[in-house]
Amino acid sequence: MKLEQNATHNFPKESHSMSNVVVKLIVLTLALFLMQGLAQAQQSKVLQVLYVIPKGQTAKPDANQAIAAIMAIIQRHYHQQLGVTFALKNPLVTTVNSPQDTAGAIDWNNHVNLIKTTLAHDYLVNQNVVFAILEGTVGDAGGSWNTVKMTGNFWNEAYQAYKTNPATLPSKLHGWSHELGHAFGLLHTSDAKTCFANQKVDLGNLPSLIMQKSNDLGSVYNYPFLPQEKKLLLDPTYYPMCRPFLSESAAGSKPRPHASEHLKHPLPAAARSITFSNQAGYVAKMVVVYFVMQNAGGTQVPIAKALQTPSIPVGQSKTLEIPRDNAKGMPISVVIEGIGTTKGKVLETTVPEGFNGNLCFKSWGTIFNAQGGPCQ
Ligand SMILES: [Zn+2]
Repeated sequence: MKLEQNATHNFPKESHSMSNVVVKLIVLTLALFLMQGLAQAQQSKVLQVLYVIPKGQTAKPDANQAIAAIMAIIQRHYHQQLGVTFALKNPLVTTVNSPQDTAGAIDWNNHVNLIKTTLAHDYLVNQNVVFAILEGTVGDAGGSWNTVKMTGNFWNEAYQAYKTNPATLPSKLHGWSHELGHAFGLLHTSDAKTCFANQKVDLGNLPSLIMQKSNDLGSVYNYPFLPQEKKLLLDPTYYPMCRPFLSESAAGSKPRPHASEHLKHPLPAAARSITFSNQAGYVAKMVVVYFVMQNAGGTQVPIAKALQTPSIPVGQSKTLEIPRDNAKGMPISVVIEGIGTTKGKVLETTVPEGFNGNLCFKSWGTIFNAQGGPCQ
């Protein structure tokens, strides 16, 4: 599949004029600008997704969950390569109906204009990276100017993998990390090699890379950046001429923020969960109680919060995601209740408040001899 960065296109330069304004108004305006500037400076740049539905197309039912799974992998890939990564916006996905059909939507100008009109504040003021996914489109994906245009063939393949066998999802995502590299300003590595050669730097023989796929290496995690490409992403002063895709071609257009303004975050802690598996001859449910610190009359006090599964019959399991903002040093209690059993509570135990990953507990036995414990 061919992957090309986009040719740049001209956009009319915006002009601002201010005339015949009383002095008071000028002062007020300046003050507002200053306050906006301060607010902007404190705001962290994030990556967000625009899910574009062209005319005649339909959004996929589990698009948001699939996109979250995809972006978590790309985020982890960049972290594995760079030791830092980008942050994801919450909520991550904005879905928009495009006035264009699929043929119109994949035009680069239309792609960028849709971002500028739909996400004006996010893209132009907050300076976020916008990763657009164009439902139902065919053709080349692209990336430039802190935006990605991801086309339907890449999206369909990733969505299918997510739905049918999520373990294979990382092997479908080379193009996603690649286009994001363009969005952060990177060239194809063979072009970068030419650029560096002009600066008397030899990039050497090129293996199969994020920005230059030669052999299929399977999982996206197997594709590296060259050391020089890492430096292009992390050091704004390092050969800026060899990462040209941050500026629109229009004369005087302001370059987008350097990648290092986005790539400065640790990997967020993965979600954690507790699974309940009912293997008993009775209906049962699991209740998990944890504590969060809340302000009560000026003092922080622990408040109990409960989560529970539905009552489920034999052979079923349910998983509860456990939040991470719980009170330190206060264990999380796990109770399995066997409905109609003589014992009632078939398991009462605790798990450490800081546990990671997935824990599993099960119930078994009969209503007269109900049992509970960890899954094997
Ligand atoms: Zn490319």
